[in-house]
Amino acid sequence: TDKEADIVVIGGGGAGMTAALQASQNGAKNVVIVEKMPQTGGNTVYATGGLNASETSVQKKLNVKDSNQSFIDETIAGGKKLNNPELVKTMVEGSAAAVDWINQIGGDLSELGRSGGMSVDRLHRPKGGAAVGPMIVKTLNENIEKENIPVLLNTTAKEIVLNDKNAIAGVKVADASGEYTIKCKAVVLAAGGFGANSDMVVKYAPNLKGFGTTNHKGATGDGIILAEKANAALVDMEKIQTHPTVEPSTSVMYTEGVRGDGGILVNKEGKRFINELETRDVVSAAILEQPEAISFLIFDQAVREKLSAIEKYINLKIIEEAETPEELAKKIGVDPAAFAETMKAYSQAAASGVDKDFGRKEMKSKLDKPKYYAGKCAPAIHHTMGGVKINTVCEVLKADNAAIPGFFAAGEVTGGVHGGNRIGGNAMADIIVFGRIAANSACKYVEANG
Ligand code: ADP
Repeated sequence: TDKEADIVVIGGGGAGMTAALQASQNGAKNVVIVEKMPQTGGNTVYATGGLNASETSVQKKLNVKDSNQSFIDETIAGGKKLNNPELVKTMVEGSAAAVDWINQIGGDLSELGRSGGMSVDRLHRPKGGAAVGPMIVKTLNENIEKENIPVLLNTTAKEIVLNDKNAIAGVKVADASGEYTIKCKAVVLAAGGFGANSDMVVKYAPNLKGFGTTNHKGATGDGIILAEKANAALVDMEKIQTHPTVEPSTSVMYTEGVRGDGGILVNKEGKRFINELETRDVVSAAILEQPEAISFLIFDQAVREKLSAIEKYINLKIIEEAETPEELAKKIGVDPAAFAETMKAYSQAAASGVDKDFGRKEMKSKLDKPKYYAGKCAPAIHHTMGGVKINTVCEVLKADNAAIPGFFAAGEVTGGVHGGNRIGGNAMADIIVFGRIAANSACKYVEANG
C-alpha cells in the first residue's frame, strides 16, 4: 500500500543519513530513508583516511594554521582544474562546521593527518588514526535511531515520480512485498556512485573494462539513472578514479608509497612488466595485460622498515613473506627460478641506477634484504567523480540549469565537486557538508510548498 512522507531520502550512506538527521534537527517531522541494502553505510563505511576541513576548531586547538583559500586551491589543483569552483568553495566553507557537527552528535574527529595533494594537516580523523567511515556511520545510525527516523532497509527506489508541473510528487519503491509509492513533497537523492556497476563504468569509460572495484555492492548508479529519467542533467560521467594496486579478495588498497619506497610489480610468470612509478592509469592498464590480469607487489625488509603503512597489510594477512625469493615465489604460485632471476636483475639495476628494461628512474631499494614480501593486486575502480548536476544549495538541475522543484541531491551521486581526480579526505567533507545543505533546502521547500 502507498505511503506518505514530507521528505524521502534515497540511500542510507553518509550523505543520506546526514541529510535525514539534519532535516529532523530542523524540525521536519516526516522524513524517511529508503535503503536498498540490508544495512546502512554504503561506500561511506569503507572510508579510512579522514575528513578534510580547514579553519576548524580542532586545527586551532592543535595550533595548525590553515586557510579556506588554500583548501580550495589545492582541491582544484588536485582535480586537474576540472572541478566546479562554486561547489568546491561551498564544500570548503562548510567544512569546519561539518567537523563540529559530527563531534556534537557524538562522533570523534579529534586528530589530524594529511592526505596526498594537501600541504596542511587538515585530514580530521578519530583518535589513534582509526578509520573515519565506520565512526561516521555508527554516529549517524545512533542519532537516526534516537530521532526515530524510519529507515526502510531492503527497499529500492525504482522511480522518481513527478507531477504535471514536473515537480516532485513521490518515489516508487520495491521491497520483498512488491512495489508501492511513497508520496512526498521533496526528495533528497543520496544513492552514491556507480563504481560497482561495471557495465555503467565501461559505458562512460571504455578503457576501464575488466577492472574490479573497491566499492560496496550497492554502488550501482541507480540514483544517477533515476535522476536522468526525471530530467536531471549529468556532469563529468567519464571521470572515474582507479587505483592500480588493490588486493582482489579484500579490496584493500596498497598505498602508492610501497612502490615509491622501492617496491616492484611482477606478473604470474615472475617477471616485471612496467615502470612501476608510471601514473595510475598506465600501471593499471599494464596489469590488465598480464596473465590472469593480476600482479604481485614485491618488497623487502628495507621497504617495510621505511613505511609503517605496510604493518596494516601484514596484520590483515594479505601479504606472503619468506626468507628467500625462491621460497616467496613458491608461496604465491610463481616459477621460483624466473622470479629469482627477476630479483637479481632488479638488484643490479637498482645498484647501477639504470633500469634498461623499463626505464624506472627512482629505485630506492635493491630489494635484497630478507625477508621478502608479496601482495597480490589488480587495478580497481575507486570513486566515480561524475553524477547528477547540482548547484550550491543542492537543487538538482536540468540541462538548462533550471532546478527541478522539490528535488535535491548530495554525495557521490552528484558530480562536479571533485573534477578530474578526488583528493583523499574530500569525499567525507562532500557528504557531510552537502548532506546538510540538501536537508536545509528540502526543509525550506517543504515549508514553502506545504
Ligand atoms: P555517499 O557517500 O554519497 O553517502 P554511499 O555509497 O555511502 O554514498 O551511500 C549510498 C547508499 O545508497 C548506499 O547504501 C546504497 O546501497 C544506497 N542505494 C543505492 N541505490 C539505491 C536505490 N535505488 N534505492 C535505495 N538505496 C539505494
